[in-house]
Amino acid sequence: MPFELAPLPYAYNALEPFVDERTMQIHHDKHHQAYITNLNAAIEKAPELATWSLTDLVAKLGQTPESVRGVIRNHGGGHWNHDFFWNVMAPAGTTKATAKLSSAIDANFGSLDNFKAEFEKSAMGRFGSGWAWLVSDSAGKLTVVSTANQDNPLTDGLTPVLGVDVWEHAYYLKYQNLRAEYLKQWWNVVNWDQASKNLG
Ligand code: MN
Repeated sequence: MPFELAPLPYAYNALEPFVDERTMQIHHDKHHQAYITNLNAAIEKAPELATWSLTDLVAKLGQTPESVRGVIRNHGGGHWNHDFFWNVMAPAGTTKATAKLSSAIDANFGSLDNFKAEFEKSAMGRFGSGWAWLVSDSAGKLTVVSTANQDNPLTDGLTPVLGVDVWEHAYYLKYQNLRAEYLKQWWNVVNWDQASKNLG
């Protein structure tokens, strides 16, 4: 069964005014769909991967056939990352971190504000296209990392808790070159319920 694009978990305009409706339409319907289409084409060329889950394709990238590994990296990663991204956002003011996540952030970063500053710094420091992530390692330690393009922390054995897309397609229509402003406003639409679930 080829991969399919799931509908957004909310309306295209649900994140207004922080993330605009037009960006969400193009980002979900065009960009995310393209990753899925290209991923499916790669799996057709390597049918032994047809039974792999999306997470396995990303986490065990090194075990995929070399002939399709680059496509899986970019487009399998693109599919995973965007599925994740839609779900770590929610209409402003509708979600709340659990005590477990809040205390883990305090313990690992000192405070929520320190965490946000480190996360924004990582996202700003990503030259070109990529992502910034809050990740948990196998010991439960939280850190902030950034990945290029559609690379994913799972490939390095880290579990994403929160992630922000800093490709220009994620913010350019509304924020143009102002990535810092996009990042500041993005906190308004973080789905803290989902981030708490991701922490486990
Ligand atoms: Mn994107």
